[in-house]
Amino acid sequence: MDGPTVRAGDSGSSSPADARPGPLSRTPFGVALWSTLLLGLPILGWCLLHLDLAAAKPEELWSLAILGALVVVGETRPLIASKTYGQSGVTPSTAFTFAILFTWGLVPAVVFHCAASLLSDLIEHKVWWKTLFNLGQYAISLSAAWLVLLAFGWQASLSGMHEISRGDLAPMAVAWIVYFLVNNGLVSLVVGLANAESFSEVFFEDFGYQVFTNVAVLSFSGIVTLVIDAGAAWIPLLLPPMIAIYATAGLALDREHQANHDSLTELPNRKLLVDQLAQTLVERVEGDLVGLFVLDLDRFKEVNDTLGHQTGDRLLQIVAQRLREAVRPEDTVARLGGDEFAVLLSAIRDEEAALEVARRIGVALAEPFNLDGMLLELEASVGVALAPIHGTDVEELLRCADIAMYIAKDERTGVETYAASRDRHSTNRLGLLGALRKGIDDGELELHYQPKVSLSTGAVTGVEALVRWRHPQRGLVFPDDFIPLAEHSGLMHRLTGYVIDTALAQAASWWSVGLQVPVAVNVSARDLHGTALAQTVAVGLARYDLPATALRLELTERVLMSESARVGDTLAALERLGVQLSLDDFGTGYSSLVLLQQMPVCEIKVDRSFVSRLSAGGDGAIVRSIIDLAHALGIEAVAEGVETEETWSRLEELGCDSAQGWYVSRPMPSIAATEWLLRHPSRRAALRVLRSSASPAGA
Ligand code: C2E
Ligand code: CA
Ligand code: CA
Repeated sequence: MDGPTVRAGDSGSSSPADARPGPLSRTPFGVALWSTLLLGLPILGWCLLHLDLAAAKPEELWSLAILGALVVVGETRPLIASKTYGQSGVTPSTAFTFAILFTWGLVPAVVFHCAASLLSDLIEHKVWWKTLFNLGQYAISLSAAWLVLLAFGWQASLSGMHEISRGDLAPMAVAWIVYFLVNNGLVSLVVGLANAESFSEVFFEDFGYQVFTNVAVLSFSGIVTLVIDAGAAWIPLLLPPMIAIYATAGLALDREHQANHDSLTELPNRKLLVDQLAQTLVERVEGDLVGLFVLDLDRFKEVNDTLGHQTGDRLLQIVAQRLREAVRPEDTVARLGGDEFAVLLSAIRDEEAALEVARRIGVALAEPFNLDGMLLELEASVGVALAPIHGTDVEELLRCADIAMYIAKDERTGVETYAASRDRHSTNRLGLLGALRKGIDDGELELHYQPKVSLSTGAVTGVEALVRWRHPQRGLVFPDDFIPLAEHSGLMHRLTGYVIDTALAQAASWWSVGLQVPVAVNVSARDLHGTALAQTVAVGLARYDLPATALRLELTERVLMSESARVGDTLAALERLGVQLSLDDFGTGYSSLVLLQQMPVCEIKVDRSFVSRLSAGGDGAIVRSIIDLAHALGIEAVAEGVETEETWSRLEELGCDSAQGWYVSRPMPSIAATEWLLRHPSRRAALRVLRSSASPAGA
């Protein structure tokens, strides 16, 4: 077997690829490479000149031809899958090459082995310098083994075949050892220099495995030599054990395939992509670019949730197939997980060419998907990163492509190339956005509930659902830190959908035990564009079998002010459903009375900033006029942020209808809120008593 062939920069290497010297450079790497070529290639040339096949006897030529064929088969069909050597791994060809060496000497051994190596490297599209290095490396290693044999007085040539005898075993063994040392030594030297790793690090990496396979293959060469000695007719006996070994190795390869591929789409998985990216970066030719695309399907989750996993799976398979068809066969398409894919372009001319491919991918995915006669449309966001422009190592490129993808998603542009200038502003944000996207899917969002009570009777008049994000590292994140982010991305609909569904589920469980309080959900401007919100609400109410009065939607004044025409349709649809609206943060915007009159609003929430001034000794003129305004329009007034008894009393005097705030209760997680509601008596007197005993929770 031939031990490792050069695969500089395997995934194990931690060195940045830019430390890699070019093969033509005058660095130690270049010198080692060129020395190998300058020594090895002349040996190969000399062997070619002295390949006098006519000198061999006809029946020996048969044996030689069969062995030569086996060398080629062995070299082009790697037998043993290896963690370190990858696909170019350990080949059994060396067993036959050594048999040729022992029997007919150096010349045919070098010629056959180099021919096989050349063929296999061409099939694998190896870089030119690696292909040449492999030829030089084999010529040198085999010559070293041959010198050992010569030193023992070994005689073998095409004209005079060596006849094996008992005393030959010692020189053969020494030749094997020398071959192993020289061959692995040369490869370790060049790989080490290319990756800035020490020689011994590379040489002894996986050493036990190397020795094991070398012993297996080289000792097999002894058996092959004996068989040749016995005559060509015996050679077929070698085939059954060979086939058995191939079959077993096939199983191992299958297992390796499974570990490196996604079972649903059969595409390479993230692990294999990372390996291939690392290797591509090392093999990159000066002047060429390596392109990495990360792509995310924009509406996949909806499909999965509404049409089921089976349909989702089918869709992913079709996506995989379209991606494969959109790129060249030598490019890699991988599935990173979920609805995220990646494409690796090993050699592209310039950025424009990369964008061209990215757009082609976009077009391929924009075509509607036909699933059982149902036409589905998806959008994809593609982020493009290019080496060496945006980065030179695997992690950096993946990060850049990821960021570009989020920008594409965020700005709905379809395709974006990484740009450092935007990164500085957006890395944090986009990182958080990505985490939020995942957080919503993984159920990291939870709702806390804050009650609202009547100032006159103390009865609970409603509960407001307030979202929180239980971030695995950051802990509990409050809405002000992520709602604005979601609003400026495509995530808001998803988030609101989740909140409405969760709030309705909670309402249903309260209503079923007689706690018939309306649950209020906050919606933002984004939610009012399009028909999704009304639809979500209608579907949710039906699903949980709740009347429209069980839900209330809170929107801010600003929402009504902006784009009222577009928002109007949604509000009208909600009104038809019978869902009541509440005007949040009232007083901070500038809504006109006309607008207020037109809108189907049943409640105004006086902003906390005005309410808090009540206890600071303010005269309450603003709060009073808001309350009066509300009553004049036949709308209820609710004070937000009531923190003290003093504020409570002032609001009572001013004729405010309801109050919400820490004085009554902090927002509470679901279970605590349920307990609170169950224990809360409607009477005001009782409320006062309870207020001091009810343990503040949540928020
Ligand atoms: P908001 O709608 O004005 O919600 C009331 C906020 O005031 C909540 O903050 C609540 O915890 C806090 N609060 C309640 N009582 C008191 C009090 O006595 N004193 C003080 N200082 N604060 C009090 P939170 O939960 O951090 O929410 C902040 C904002 O985030 C909300 O303001 C709302 O606009 C938004 N938000 C919360 N949940 C959602 C949601 O599910 N969807 C959307 N679109 N927005 C949400
Ligand atoms: Ca609110
Ligand atoms: Ca508010």
